[in-house]
Parts: sequence; C-alpha cells; structure tokens
Amino acid sequence: MSGVTFLGSGGGRMVVLNQMRHSGGFWLKLGDVNILQDPGPGSLVMVHKHALKPSSLDAIVLSHRHIDHSNDINVMIEAMTGGGFQRRGRVIVPPDCLNNDPVVLQYVRPFSEIVEIKEGMKISIRDINISFPIRNMHTVETYGAIYEFNSRRLGYIPDTEYFPELARAFQGVDFLIINVVRMTTDNRIRHLNIKEAADLIGSIKPKIAILTHFGLQVLKASPDHQAMLISERTGVKTIAANDGLSVSFE
Ligand SMILES: [Zn+2]
Repeated sequence: MSGVTFLGSGGGRMVVLNQMRHSGGFWLKLGDVNILQDPGPGSLVMVHKHALKPSSLDAIVLSHRHIDHSNDINVMIEAMTGGGFQRRGRVIVPPDCLNNDPVVLQYVRPFSEIVEIKEGMKISIRDINISFPIRNMHTVETYGAIYEFNSRRLGYIPDTEYFPELARAFQGVDFLIINVVRMTTDNRIRHLNIKEAADLIGSIKPKIAILTHFGLQVLKASPDHQAMLISERTGVKTIAANDGLSVSFE
C-alpha cells in the first residue's frame, strides 16, 4: 500500500503564522518506506495526531529552508532516531540548510545520514528511487522531487516561480503534488499562482494532481473550487488537500 497523508495544507505567512491551516508537510508511505517531506511548524504534533510513527521514518526531505517547510526538522530528526540513541534514516536537504545560518542543527547531524541535494541527483532507499530533477526559482535554494515506487512516479513541485523547464522536468509522473500559495503573482516572493499551477498540470498531465500549501488568497478563493476549475480546464483530476487528507497511490 502506498499513499500520502497531508499533515498540513497551509502555506505563506498569514495562513501558517495564524494556523488557519496546519503546516506540517506530508508523509509518504511508499511500500514499506516512510518519508516525511517538508516538516513545517506543528509537524511533530500532527504526526502523532494521525498515529504515524516517527521511528518508522526512513528519510526526512526538505525542499528548502523557509520556516513553513523546515521548522520541525530538528525535532523530527530526534523523533526518527529515538532522541539520537538509534542512529538511522537519512536527512536529505539543500546545501544551504547546512551552511550559513543552518536550519539543521549541528548536534543532531550525527544521528542520521546527511545527504546534500544537487540538481539531477538520484538516490535510492531500498526499492524506492528519488530524483531531484531541477532547481526551482525561489528566494532560497529549492528542489522538488520525483519519487519512483512500484513502477509509478510521484512528482512534488514545491515553492517556485513559474518557468517553462518545470513542465519538462516533471513529464511522465503519475501523481503530482504542487504548492500553490497565491492567486496573483508577487515578484518579491517567487511563488506559483493558480493559473501557472493549472498550466503546469495541463502540460504535465498526471493521472491525479493535488494542490496544497495554500496562502490566504487561495483559501479565500476556495481551494476545492479552484481544483474543480483546473480539472475542467485541463481534463486532469485535480483535488485540493486539506489537513489530514490521505490519498492512495494504488
Ligand atoms: Zn518558500
């Protein structure tokens, strides 16, 4: 059994700081491999709320260092490793999460294997292959991922401004999770708006697209309604995440 559980579906300052939606990232169960992607504020709490076991994690992956994606990384490393007493798992992060002003604290690094993401990198965890096909265009170093499991592929496009190579990089995925913070573009913060997300879904053509990481503009415009409009426009079944949503990849 493979699937995703959204620990949170909020993004952007207003939504996350006021917890209008939760913000803990998402938990992937791909066969017997468990991966936590982007443990934002509250991730530890939501993991326990959903009766998930941090000690079963094989990896924690950060797309980038922004606090709505990385706040709980250190406490989740401790939770994965029994407070550091059972060294295990991998922590897979962009290099700028480790260097200046690091979000991964020095003292937790020996608890796990630290892997620095590079554009084009491929790694395996047992029978799961993970690739990082392209560096996003965001205000800090940011990478999406393609998770390959049981001859299916899940793509994750985190925070980025739109650029056409994105569609090529994620071509052929069966499932696509895409962060949509805004309805309109604000060039200072480099996020996809809803129309750009729809364009990407329309050209990547996954079997199912899941929108998440909603900022205030998208919440006000009803993520469910926006997902329905994208489904109609692209012909791709598109759904909006909510806190606690689980989607099966079977
Ligand atoms: Zn960001």
